[in-house]
Amino acid sequence: MYLKDKSSPNYELPATQFITMMESITINTFKVKHLSLLLCLCFQTGIAQQEWRNPLEFPLYLAGNCGELRPNHFHGGIDMKTQGVIGKAVHAVQKGYVSRISVSPWGYGNALYLTHPDGTTTVYGHLERFAPKIADYLWEQQHQLERFAVNLYLTPEQLPVEEDEIVAYSGNTGSSGGPHVHFEIRDTETEELIDPLPYYMHLIKDTRPPKITGLMIYPQAGKGVVNGKADKQELKIAYDAQGKPFIQARIEAWGDIGLAIRANDYMNETGNIYGVKETILQEGGEVLFRAYINRFGFDEIGISIV
Ligand SMILES: [Zn+2]
Repeated sequence: MYLKDKSSPNYELPATQFITMMESITINTFKVKHLSLLLCLCFQTGIAQQEWRNPLEFPLYLAGNCGELRPNHFHGGIDMKTQGVIGKAVHAVQKGYVSRISVSPWGYGNALYLTHPDGTTTVYGHLERFAPKIADYLWEQQHQLERFAVNLYLTPEQLPVEEDEIVAYSGNTGSSGGPHVHFEIRDTETEELIDPLPYYMHLIKDTRPPKITGLMIYPQAGKGVVNGKADKQELKIAYDAQGKPFIQARIEAWGDIGLAIRANDYMNETGNIYGVKETILQEGGEVLFRAYINRFGFDEIGISIV
């Protein structure tokens, strides 16, 4: 996060409470007082949406969520846990047709794309194998092309599927660190990624708030000073009796400064950590910056999304 100050000699950063990790975001503001960063519970901010069926046959637990930060990209879907094993049935979440089958030793591994009448396409990645009618078609094509790695696009008439139909079995293929299903929802027309969580709020327990794990303040080289220094400084986070984080020290700064925060979100009954869905930077009651992960394009997320 980046804050710009040209006129005000001093300002303070009092109680802060925040949510996600961000980098260099430009905000033009001349005077900053009473900054606060708000972190919102992952699922409280989702817009009410239709409830989709779980593609798996057992309770839904996530190993990763949509938009969380990976080393060089934002994660493009949700990673559904498969009880530590491969070979679990994967069902179509809506009726539609197989629009793409891709097989690769990398990335999504064996992946299936189903296109639905409501304008969405669902993607199931790292599969062990496909249901027989899909596997037969794939086998034929692989033989014809004399290639293992293929990327096949199909028309609606070729392989239609019903809602609930078993379309594949979960696996650990491609760039996968353990058995799971990488699940995405895309806008069929624009190919934008849509956060699947709002469709699955009814199946996931999350009463645990996100937690800030770090806050850093960066004077911009030659343009700003924080507490009399030009170096970056870590701000110590303290917690009040209710567990609410705040910054104890008074911070004096002038010029152009940047703010970076690191935070994780959590869900019930799992030890996994997740990215934060919404981050807000406020001055008093005024929102200076808001990041809300709901839908994003491939050009916005980095080089790989699995
Ligand atoms: Zn994934």
